[in-house]
Amino acid sequence: MTSTAACPETAACQEQDRSGKDRPCAIARACQGRGRADAPVFEIHTLRVGELLLPHNGGILRDPIHAWLVTDGARSILVDSGMPDMAEVRRRLNVDGSGGGHESLREALARIGRKPEDVSHVVLTHLHFDHAWNLDLFPQACAIVQRDEVMHAIDPVPTQRIYYLREAVTGLLGRKRPSAFRLVDGDVDFLPGFRLLKTPGHTPGMQVAIVDTARGRVGLVSDLGDHYRYWYPADPRANEAPLRFLSGSFMPGPIRSEGELAYADSMRRVKDLAEIVVPAHDARIPVQLPRDWFELPPG
Ligand SMILES: [Zn+2]
Repeated sequence: MTSTAACPETAACQEQDRSGKDRPCAIARACQGRGRADAPVFEIHTLRVGELLLPHNGGILRDPIHAWLVTDGARSILVDSGMPDMAEVRRRLNVDGSGGGHESLREALARIGRKPEDVSHVVLTHLHFDHAWNLDLFPQACAIVQRDEVMHAIDPVPTQRIYYLREAVTGLLGRKRPSAFRLVDGDVDFLPGFRLLKTPGHTPGMQVAIVDTARGRVGLVSDLGDHYRYWYPADPRANEAPLRFLSGSFMPGPIRSEGELAYADSMRRVKDLAEIVVPAHDARIPVQLPRDWFELPPG
């Protein structure tokens, strides 16, 4: 599928060349140079692959686990790969829930007509156990991870040791073919219309996928603000107890490797680029982008 939408800068920003003809201005030309005007438009399918029940303030917090399948019709790119099956989660983390493992991921892919063999790339936003498991389902795919994230998975900050299970790293190291494992450093133009943004905050080597869809540019923000309330703290729909005084600001999530300012700066970088953000653990995320797209706050 190819975009027919023009670069948003183009329409509002014309200039005349020496012969008096209209042409896109320098910004629009640069935008076209980045490939946006002709970039493929992707669809994003949300894969709900499990749920954890987390003790929280004397109650139980339902924590849905998601991955995403991003496709332009030709390629199938998985963003995150889910968590272990529940028997393993219970044994390793003493947490209850449902789903997880190969079976849930296979079923979620089957619901959108895909098989694991169809996946060409697995973009791992970070290596926490609920985002980077099941890689062995995709031996043919190229796993893409920030180099800093691998280093942090080997030697995490103390509060995050529980989230990094050693198989997330050994599974990557076992991918010997260069085409099966790619380490990246910093922001990467992965494909036209599909950018990886390094966003330290939740972890030092976190990356966010910035993806062009027919309804706008989407940030699959994963655990960089893993609920809508962190992105829209002033919106009552994103909060049981609205915090209106925070209007226009961000509220960094509770699990973080970096300081609050660095975290908020990463969120701001995403919001500067993305028109829609999709957090990893919010039960309200759309099933399919752009079809079931919604935005907080609404237009
Ligand atoms: Zn995480």
